[in-house]
Amino acid sequence: MELFDSHAHLNDEAFDEDREKIIQKCFENNIAFITEVGYSEETSIKAVALAEQYPNIYATIGAHPDECNQDIDLSFIKKLAQNKKVVAIGEIGLDYHYETTQKEMQEKYFIKQIELANELNLPVSIHSRDADMDMLEILKKHTISNNFVMHCFSSSVEIAKEILKLGGYISLAGPVTFKNAKGLLEVAKMIPENRLLIETDCPYLAPEPHRGTRNDSSNVYYTAQKIAELRNTTIENVAQITKENAKTFYQIL
Ligand SMILES: [Zn+2]
Repeated sequence: MELFDSHAHLNDEAFDEDREKIIQKCFENNIAFITEVGYSEETSIKAVALAEQYPNIYATIGAHPDECNQDIDLSFIKKLAQNKKVVAIGEIGLDYHYETTQKEMQEKYFIKQIELANELNLPVSIHSRDADMDMLEILKKHTISNNFVMHCFSSSVEIAKEILKLGGYISLAGPVTFKNAKGLLEVAKMIPENRLLIETDCPYLAPEPHRGTRNDSSNVYYTAQKIAELRNTTIENVAQITKENAKTFYQIL
């Protein structure tokens, strides 16, 4: 079985003590590909460096909405995008969770980065938290030419339907295995086979039975297993379709 963890943060300081060991463990345990996701200039540079170190790790670059509550310089994106291991712009989007949120600023830099992705011919990895309606409005107004994924999708079936109508992919993470997963269970059942991705978002959101511990890419196995159960199929099948979908999405040949 070959799994593709489509969204990871292995450069997080949580892995400073044993990063190489953990990555090796992942590749020895069914993990065939990993996308390391940047969320700022510094983490984007590091994502590209990690991707250069491992043939089966790819990188995304961009500025997370938490970085965009004030003016920032996005010039790193065009520079880093020259590297062949860069497969998407992201994670970018809207995050209204904190009181310090500046909605207009987040929106401005989200749209700027969508335009950059179109110019650079790259797909987009989207982070959306407590911002469903504004997110849909922006996605309807600003066409993303090379597709997009809603990473760690945690909204309703209704929102999922809107995303699918816009041609987007939906990526499920550890929360689909949680006891309070509720609506996510329905989402996991209704996503068309060619629109489903899986991820860990590690070191956060470890799936059951490891909830609450440090997450790493090898745990994408448990998310695949839960989805297989919900969709009445085998984990091998879920692994195969989500791997192929991730390769198509990130344009990995
Ligand atoms: Zn993330």
